[in-house]
Order: sequence, then structure tokens, then C-alpha cells
Amino acid sequence: MTSWHGHVFGVTAEPASLSLEDTREAQAADDSFQPVNQALADGVKPSQDGLRDYSEEARILFAEWDSLVLEDSVLYRRYHYPDGTTRYLQVVSPAKLRHPYIERMHADLGHFGRTKTCLALARRAYFPGWRSLTGLVVHNCVTCNMHQRSHQKPRQANLKPMREFCPMAVIHANLVGPLPEGKNSRNQRGFQYILSVVDSAHSSQNS
Ligand SMILES: [Zn+2]
Repeated sequence: MTSWHGHVFGVTAEPASLSLEDTREAQAADDSFQPVNQALADGVKPSQDGLRDYSEEARILFAEWDSLVLEDSVLYRRYHYPDGTTRYLQVVSPAKLRHPYIERMHADLGHFGRTKTCLALARRAYFPGWRSLTGLVVHNCVTCNMHQRSHQKPRQANLKPMREFCPMAVIHANLVGPLPEGKNSRNQRGFQYILSVVDSAHSSQNS
């Protein structure tokens, strides 16, 4: 047990750690945790028939029996990567603390998206339905949503090729000059500018 224990403090010392005192109190006050923690303290797993008397959440926790650890009256779950290289204890978070805990961790870590927030949570805590609740909290995060909107606002519509051309519906005008003074065929002087008008429909140019 000692090797697991070492990891508890390694994990919970990180930002957004669960307060063990709050966790212990909330677990003790939670109807679903009481029978599980008591059974672990007694070292007696209820029979399959006996499980019917408990809440759905208690039954989910009992199903994790072999991974559960009770330390200083706090319920943890052993967790290890599939390859077994990394293992640690996840604090089993009681219902009352879940939402505020995810919100705080999500904010402390700089508003990661759903996947990263789930990974961060799994490194610290566990509870039945943790993945969907974490996704929900991220989805409803006011800061994330405001941030996304402010990013979308200045975005311009993509440039689209114009498909409908009517003569003189769209013209491109360009004034070039002043140029060295010239004269026309009638010997009139003073022409210094060229007005170039291009009709999109015909690409005809008049000056
Ligand atoms: Zn956020």
C-alpha cells in the first residue's frame, strides 16, 4: 500500500487538488459512499444479492471493489495505465464536490478542451459518470464560450467567386495619374489622368 500512498500526495499536491478534508466529510455525508466505505473498513464485500439494496451509484462503486482503497477514511480508486508503467490513486469524488471541482480544475489549468480536461481529471479523481460530467462542464463553461465567440466575431466571410454577372452590375474603377500632360487627336491639351473602368461581366475597358 505504501507505494500507492506516495502517489496520493504527489497527485493531490498539484493545482486544483481536492481537499482531502472536504472529500472525507462529503463522502461521509453521501448515501452512496457510506455503505461502500463501511464495507471497505470492515473488509467485507456485500454479496451479489445484497447489492440490490443499494443505490445505483453504490453498486457501480462496489463493482470497482478490487480497485478501491480506504485511506484515513477517504475512498480512493487504484488506477494504472494499461501498460502498468504509471499507477496512482484517484480520489473518488462524492456527488456534492464534482461539479465545483471540475470547474475549478478546468479554470486553473487554463480552460483546456474536453479531452485534456478529462485526462487531467483522471489523473486526480474518479467518480461514476466522470467523463460525461466533465464534458458537460467544459461545454457550458462561460469563459470558454465567451472566448470562442470573441474569436469568431472578427472572422470575415470567405471570399466567394461571383457567379452572376449582369452588364454594369459590378464595375472596377481605377484612376491613374497624374501623368505627363498629353493632347488628344484634336490638339486639346490637359489630359493628365486615365480613368480605367472594367465591367466584370464583359471585361471591356474604356478610358
Ligand atoms: Zn473554460
